[in-house]
Amino acid sequence: MNIHEYQAKGLLRDHGAPVSDGRVVLRAEEAKTAAGALDGPLWVVKAQIHAGGRGKGTFKEADAGEAGGVRLAKSVEEAAEEAKRMLGRTLVTKQTGDAGKQVNRIYIEDGSGIETEMYLALLVDRATSRVSFVASTEGGMDIEEVAEATPEKILSFSVDPATGYQAFHGRRIAFALELTGGQVKQCVKLMGQLYDLFVSKDMEMLEINPLIVTDAGDLKCLDAKMGFDSNALYRHPEIMELRDETEEDPKELEASKYDLNYIALDGEIGCMVNGAGLAMATMDIIKLYGAEPANFLDVGGGATKEKVTEAFKIITSDPNVKGILVNIFGGIMRCDVIAEGVVAAVKEVGLQVPLVVRLEGTNVEEGKAIINNSDVDVIAADDLKDGAEKIVKAVKG
Ligand code: GDP
Ligand code: MN
Repeated sequence: MNIHEYQAKGLLRDHGAPVSDGRVVLRAEEAKTAAGALDGPLWVVKAQIHAGGRGKGTFKEADAGEAGGVRLAKSVEEAAEEAKRMLGRTLVTKQTGDAGKQVNRIYIEDGSGIETEMYLALLVDRATSRVSFVASTEGGMDIEEVAEATPEKILSFSVDPATGYQAFHGRRIAFALELTGGQVKQCVKLMGQLYDLFVSKDMEMLEINPLIVTDAGDLKCLDAKMGFDSNALYRHPEIMELRDETEEDPKELEASKYDLNYIALDGEIGCMVNGAGLAMATMDIIKLYGAEPANFLDVGGGATKEKVTEAFKIITSDPNVKGILVNIFGGIMRCDVIAEGVVAAVKEVGLQVPLVVRLEGTNVEEGKAIINNSDVDVIAADDLKDGAEKIVKAVKG
């Protein structure tokens, strides 16, 4: 789960990390009061969406030369105007895709004078099963581009959980970032705060881009992006409260209510599968036969008829779906339950596209009978290959 920049900065502030003072604005009328509560003489007005690259992004229907989602203002009035101008509009950045994201919240912050911009991130490194730091002098840029063009400018190392964070970790980062004097001490302290926050809140990712040296020579977190391990959220109700459902794919949101493992993709073939491995294999074989999956969906081992019905509804609500492949290996899951769910769902939402069903395993005969005795128009398949071939043929001709 991701949170907004202003929420992430709230967590940083609570942990003693240096961030600017700021106010969130949800409605245009609040903009002036929010800006007026800050000292100035510089204000930064920032669109709050769950995507980076806002500064270089562009608004839909923007005026020629109009700035992106991060704007500087020199007075309370100007800051309020900029906030009002952004609210409700759609911002397109490198990370949002062409559709962009609607801006429903604005963060107005005390502007900082910047001496240097640097990059800092913490993440869970799957290779070492440890928390890793990533640091670079190349701040404010896309770290993927830095990694591509000048990998030598990136320092990355993991922290041994047995010792935890130590001052030498912080000094290593400070020297890689070419910090001097009191900044080194600030860096050692800040990295420790970030590490503690990362571990105590079960984060997956924490990115400060840019981390800056201010014109006064101090370190400050100018941007903040945080992602949390969804499986650990039950331990952090205070983080769960920060969830902004308007930022999530509505289909994925619906799926999460029914505890379905659903991920929306760009293709044309909707998939309903049990087991993550079989779901991956199904997506692979669809690609092999020349089409693209519209989603990943694992209905899980103990899916009920209601769950299957919901899954089917979510798949059919995607306008890109031109055909559906149901691929069930009934081990724990029973084929007759799946069949009942499919029939119930088709009765409820109708079937506008071809449907191929491949059932195998526990109660397969009962399952097939339920489908055959219904008036649902299905194409039966014998195995994975047969199912994939049939659905691709039905969709592509
Ligand atoms: P992003 O584009 O979504 O990554 O948003 P950021 O918060 O990183 O802001 C983008 C850029 O705007 C930064 O890299 C800075 O160059 C600039 N910026 C952001 N805040 C300030 C500020 O307080 N003062 C100044 N001078 N520039 C800022
Ligand atoms: Mn940034």
